[in-house]
Amino acid sequence: MMAEQHHDTSIDPTLNTTQRDYSVVSGFTSSQSFEDEVDAETEITNKEAFWLLTRGLFLIRYARGLFFTKWGMSFFMVVPPLFLGWTGKIIVDHVILAQPLDLETVNFPPHMYWFLELLVNMDRMEIVLAITILTLVLLFLIGTRVGGTGVELNDGTDNASRAENQISQGGSAAGGVFGMIEFWIDVRLTQRIVNGVRRNLFSRLLRSNMVTIDNQRVGDRLYRVLYDTPMLYTCVTELTFSPFFVVVTTGLVLYQISYTYGHLAEVSHILISATLLPIVAIVSVPLSKYVRRISQNMRAAGAATTSAMEETLDNITAVQSLGGMQKEKERFARRSAHSYWRDRLNIIVWVGIGIVIAVAEWPIVFYMTWLVTNLVIDGHMTVGDFAALFGLYTALRGSFNAFGRLWINLQDQAAAARRIFFYIDYPTEEDHRDLQKRLAPVAKDIELEDVSFTYPDGRQALKSVNLHLPLNQVIAIVGPTGSGKTTLAYLLPGFISPTSGTVRMDGTDVEDVNLEDLRSQVAYIFQEHLLFSESIRANLQIANPDATDEEMERVLQIAGCSEFISELPDGIDTVLGRSGDTLSVGQQQRLCIARGLIQNAKVIILDEPTAALDPQTENVLVDSLRQVAEDRIVVIIAHRLSTIRKADQIVFLEDGEVKDFGPHDELMSRENSPYRRYVDLQTV
Ligand code: ADP
Ligand code: MG
Repeated sequence: MMAEQHHDTSIDPTLNTTQRDYSVVSGFTSSQSFEDEVDAETEITNKEAFWLLTRGLFLIRYARGLFFTKWGMSFFMVVPPLFLGWTGKIIVDHVILAQPLDLETVNFPPHMYWFLELLVNMDRMEIVLAITILTLVLLFLIGTRVGGTGVELNDGTDNASRAENQISQGGSAAGGVFGMIEFWIDVRLTQRIVNGVRRNLFSRLLRSNMVTIDNQRVGDRLYRVLYDTPMLYTCVTELTFSPFFVVVTTGLVLYQISYTYGHLAEVSHILISATLLPIVAIVSVPLSKYVRRISQNMRAAGAATTSAMEETLDNITAVQSLGGMQKEKERFARRSAHSYWRDRLNIIVWVGIGIVIAVAEWPIVFYMTWLVTNLVIDGHMTVGDFAALFGLYTALRGSFNAFGRLWINLQDQAAAARRIFFYIDYPTEEDHRDLQKRLAPVAKDIELEDVSFTYPDGRQALKSVNLHLPLNQVIAIVGPTGSGKTTLAYLLPGFISPTSGTVRMDGTDVEDVNLEDLRSQVAYIFQEHLLFSESIRANLQIANPDATDEEMERVLQIAGCSEFISELPDGIDTVLGRSGDTLSVGQQQRLCIARGLIQNAKVIILDEPTAALDPQTENVLVDSLRQVAEDRIVVIIAHRLSTIRKADQIVFLEDGEVKDFGPHDELMSRENSPYRRYVDLQTV
């Protein structure tokens, strides 16, 4: 039933996103990829899980002080069980059965004698009172039961709501005043660690390169930052406090058994309780793999649901106008259902494990009851000893049970840890750069030597490109869609790095230099309009916070914005709608150009800026760009012949290769010019 179904997660380029198969419902599928392209290989072996968790342990570094304070405080929680088991024996033997309390003959561990001495001369009701006071003092200071203080939130079982709770989770095995303080420290510890991981992950994601950003869904990244990070805290506690206190508790229990009942209890009795450890381990370790997978799939499904929502809401206009509401609703419902199905599967597995362990534990409980009862019947022990010894054996089984479950309990954390560490390790655009290596403003030229670029999915977008772009020129990149124009332009500001070959600015390889310097050198005006829902002034200031009013006016004039801005109610201080929706597409485009120009960069790249402009506006713009090009390099990706012919040089791309390079007239006069063929086709 639990057979592995290997689901091919490799990317098939012939399949577009909407066709990809996410109909596999089984929660045991090895890796459910949905549309992940960057993080698609998600298989985790036991060994990898072990290392992921070990790495999670080092998150203590975010809160060393708090961690060790909690550690130190936790020792006190072993105190109540040391006393309370024995007060039961006192009540049964010396209160109910009224046996004399003779310190010479009674059988207690040494730490109880100071208390027994107080009781020696008391009557029965006074003994009850003394025990009540001891219990109350322990209750007030440390609490009396294991379980202690904890967050009593309604705990949903889906990852998102569990994560929400876990962000501020805390707890203390103790109660009372002590438990309260420890609980408070624990909450701070959790928040500190979660916050540390989140900040680290988020800053890595912010520096992802363009290709990563294009290929991994926003919803998935959101989910990792919001819902995967909180799980790592439990990884810290489960690997530190839990095993440590299981060992301490086991030690104390064994000490009490051997000291008090050493003459009765045999090693074999302890060993019988200990058989629980291998039984639990044998049941749970093989199942760990499935628990891990279910958890991974729950996370993948949760991320896909978040993505479905994000994508639909982001493209709400398209969805509404295309009448896709029903389809989108179904898509969301399907993913949401997948996410819940995995949740239920998770419950089944855990309940199953619980049942198997309970069944295994039953014969042991039965045998121990029989054994201890016989010791009392045969007169080797008092009736009160039954309660005490039986309690100790129960505590011992609890310890072995906890130890046996240690590994399986950590699988959820391993799944989350993989998702987090994947992006913390994923190369960002800065990793290979030397922050100390500055780049002076371009004074001469840009050179591309033998540059090739292949996207991670294997598509080669550029093949051996050699180009020389001198200062003071307008260079047009021309070619059919998909020929690699945008890819080529992306290389200049370092949005992507060449797979092979070198891009040089004034002879310096742009791959090593400080990224901030490089980016400030290159103003990139994107194909899509990327305005913020702030005032026009604020949109310009993002590119250059020091821009004066005169400079703003000048660039707005060049980009042809002055006229429409003067007609807006608040002029340059008009606040734009979502992504600049208040303006027409052509106006947005022009504003983006103005924003690019105000950056005062030496290299200006315009990626199909004129697509949304009417020919006349475009003409004016290109003429202004010619003036701007003085002392600069202007690269413009364009389609309209009237624009292209005004450029100083034309780079003609086809299938990622530079097929022609030169001024328009020169290329047109050549007999076999691919550029000429392209232009002729366009004008026919
Ligand atoms: P252009 O700007 O000339 O239309 P692009 O540079 O955008 O062309 O694309 C060149 C080629 O690279 C195309 O085949 C395109 O499908 C591919 N491509 C573009 N972006 C990606 C990406 N993020 N992942 C994989 N392939 C891509
Ligand atoms: Mg393009």
